[in-house]
This record gives sequence, C-alpha cells and structure tokens, in this order.
Amino acid sequence: FDEVLNYDPDLAKAMDDELGRQRSHIELIASENLVSKAVMAAMGSPLTNKYAEGYPGKRYYGGCEYVDVVETLAIERAKKLFGCEYANVQPHSGAQANLAVFFALVNPGDTVMGMSLDCGGHLSHGSPVNISGKYFNIVPYGVTADGFIDYDEVLRIAKECKPKMIIAGASAYARTIDFKKFREICDEVGALLMVDMAHIAGLVAGGAHPSPIPYADVTTTTTHKTLRGPRGGMILASAEAAEKFKLNKAVFPGIQGGPLMHVIAGKAVCLKEALDPSFKVYAENVVKNASALANGLMNRGFDIVSGGTDNHLMLVNLLSKGKTGKEVEKLLDAANITCNKNTIPNDPASPFVTSGIRLGTAAVTTRGFNEADMDVVAEAIAMLVDDVDANQAKAMELVKGLTDKYPLYE
Ligand code: PLP
Repeated sequence: FDEVLNYDPDLAKAMDDELGRQRSHIELIASENLVSKAVMAAMGSPLTNKYAEGYPGKRYYGGCEYVDVVETLAIERAKKLFGCEYANVQPHSGAQANLAVFFALVNPGDTVMGMSLDCGGHLSHGSPVNISGKYFNIVPYGVTADGFIDYDEVLRIAKECKPKMIIAGASAYARTIDFKKFREICDEVGALLMVDMAHIAGLVAGGAHPSPIPYADVTTTTTHKTLRGPRGGMILASAEAAEKFKLNKAVFPGIQGGPLMHVIAGKAVCLKEALDPSFKVYAENVVKNASALANGLMNRGFDIVSGGTDNHLMLVNLLSKGKTGKEVEKLLDAANITCNKNTIPNDPASPFVTSGIRLGTAAVTTRGFNEADMDVVAEAIAMLVDDVDANQAKAMELVKGLTDKYPLYE
C-alpha cells in the first residue's frame, strides 16, 4: 500500500477510504466476505506477471515451472475439499465458469431450465440480458409464494419442455437445495444437471449444506462468497464428465485466454484455509448467525421470506413495513450497515425498487460476530426501518460498538 501511496496518492486515497468503509460498516451483502491477509498477499504478488495459457505441464509459454506448482496446488486442494476428481481453477469469475459449462454441455438453441432472476436465480442462468438467455432457449422455474422451490412444479415444467440441461443453484435462496431431487428430475426427463453452488460453496466445504458433487454432472462456484477466497470461479466434476464434456478446453481456449496466476494463488490459499478444521466451525457459525439474525428480525415484526433460513442468507419482505428495498438499502447504508435491495416472490415493485432486502452473514462471521451480536444488528436494523429520524444516532452507536469490538485488518 505504501508503494501505491507514494506513486499515486489519488488512487491511494480511494483505496484507504474503502478500507475505512469496510472497517466502519457492518457488511451484510450475502455475496461478500473478508479474505485473509494471506489471500490478499497472494493476489498482490509477482505471479500477476506470468502468462500461462494452457494447463500445468502443457503450456503455450516458457517459464511456467513455478506457476504449474501454484495451479496444481489449487487443483489438488479443490479436489480434496469437495471430494471430486476434477477441478478447473482458471475461470476468472462465476459467470465465466457458468458460460464455460454452457459452452461444454449444450448447443445454441438448446432448451435449458434455470431459476428465474426475480425468484433468486443468477443472471448467468438464462436471464434475457445475459448471453445464456440470448443464445439458449431458457425455460425458467421459480419459487412458491412463500419462497420455496416446488420440486413437483420443476418436474412438471421439465416434462413439458424436455430441457437438455437443468441448472440448480441461486443467488437469493435461503433454504437447503435438494440436489438429489434435482438429479431425479433430470434423470426422469433425460437432462444434464449443472449445479451453481456459488453462494453456498463455503457451507458445502464446511459441511453446513449438503454437497451437490454426488448428483451434478458439473458443478460451478465462485471462490469469493462463503468460501472466502479471491474473486474468481471454479468448475468441479468427475474425471469421466471432465473428459466427456472436454471441460478444460471449454475454459481455455473456449472462453478465456491466459489464467490469472496471482488469483489462482489466492484460490490455493483460500482452499488451504477451507481444508483446515477451523473452517467447519466458521461455516457452522455463518448458519447460526443467519438464523439468529432472521429470528431477531422476526421478533421485531419483520417478515422473512419462507419464515427463516437454512443457510447464510435471508430475504426480508418489507411490504408490511411500508418501505421499499431501495429506501431501506439507503437508510441502512447511512447508518453504516451495508446490504442490497432484492426482489421478493411476486414482488409488486420493479427490480430497481423492490420490496425486499437480502442479508447475509458470511462477512460478519469472518469478523467474529456471534449470535448475540446478530441480535444487536437486528435491533439496529429495526430501529432504522421503524423510525430513522428518531433512532439513527442510537442505531449508529450500536453499529460502532460492534465494529470497534471486531477490528478489521489490523
Ligand atoms: N452464480 C451465482 C449463484 C451468483 O450468485 C453469482 C454472483 O453473485 C455468480 C454466479 C457470478 O459470479 P461473478 O460475479 O464472479 O461472475
């Protein structure tokens, strides 16, 4: 950081301001986390200099003997952590991992089922504005009015549209996903099963959510959400599926050029951390903290979609509070609590306004928050949503109490 400060003070100021924001705010964005200094150091290393198109032992450039070690460490750790035979650690992001799987498993025009964006799916699962929605015939499935996947309905749609592939996985779904049921549905209609476990990967790694690996033909993930690594993606599969679908070729040269070796080094560190027994405790605490936050909010009169959570996140339905997601995101941010507005099932408001917020506990759990702290967070949120003018100063005191109690990157 000192080098940036000396060379580029304007940039250094923005970076320092961002660090200050992270320190002073309670981070409840469900897709974010706080990486270790070791992960950061790996990313800020000379590995960024190296071109390494290809895979370990088969590169298109010289001088790859050490980055081969780095990538092999990441691959072997990913395989061990998730109990699978194949891992590709090169996708630059979750969306890239998903695009590579589309490229490998289906052809343009094929029918694919994915959870719709407004029910909690991800853009890259077939949204009309994403390449997945433009190049493939997407038939979406949703959730029930009370926020659960209706597996009978998924089967009914699948029987009707005969998809080549079904995607399970979501960005805003608070309940355990039954991957075995998805496998059975796929088998009944002859579809491939792609699981995108981006949000829950850390919970799967820590044994706090059932693993999709035994059921999916191919599993994708990001590495930066509950898994707590650098921003990036991965693809996991059996050796047979990797060979059959030519997964390595789908990533490079299919949709990417050279891998980001510094980021792959960060992934290797994160995977080592996730293999440590302490990560299991972390994953359990993320889930406990999410339940504590959901209960704390429900005790204070909030509606939680589906009545609670099984994982790291929850959707808060704000209709009974007479406020929009957009308003609440803003008023929480003004009191140093960060979250995002989110649509709820059958949302009467537009996606830019929404009637809900999404809250997650991966980052605050990394910081050290426990279940009692989550009740304080619920109290601060309730004070702000119920009467921001009367309560802002007091709520900010609660926030400061917690952020001071758990210092970040000292
Ligand atoms: N898949 C899911 C389920 C996600 O929630 C996200 C991001 O939020 C992604 C994929 C995309 O990840 P990235 O932002 O790294 O492209």
